[in-house]
Amino acid sequence: MADCIFCKIVAKEMNSKIVYEDEKIMAIEDINPVAPVHILIIPKKHIASLDAVTDEDLELMGHIQLTASKLAKKLGLNQNGYRLVNNCGSWGGQTVFHIHYHLLGGRAFAWPPG
Ligand code: IMP
Repeated sequence: MADCIFCKIVAKEMNSKIVYEDEKIMAIEDINPVAPVHILIIPKKHIASLDAVTDEDLELMGHIQLTASKLAKKLGLNQNGYRLVNNCGSWGGQTVFHIHYHLLGGRAFAWPPG
């Protein structure tokens, strides 16, 4: 999508710190980290939000979760735990409307979220 910053990052038209990439997804460092480890896992396919996911995306969604788990292990986050977050829609706190998951680690997180 022309005006989507994550599509531009995926197309490498915009710079990012890539921590993982394959044919379906990319994981980058968040530009404004809220934890010592803050990685965004982004599908290369433009999907606006979790609300726009369809049955066709089932494998892709599983791939994102499995990759999050593998990255967490690689970074040692699994020792103390970590959080995988999707913000959906304005009340969910979503600001970039290209679906992504936040992999957060390196500190303890509170519950419930604000
Ligand atoms: P959301 O609020 O769940 O939609 O998360 C969007 C995230 O994208 C925020 O944590 C932003 O800091 C992050 N972000 C926005 N633009 C960029 C960028 O150009 N590079 C990396 N992260 C970005």
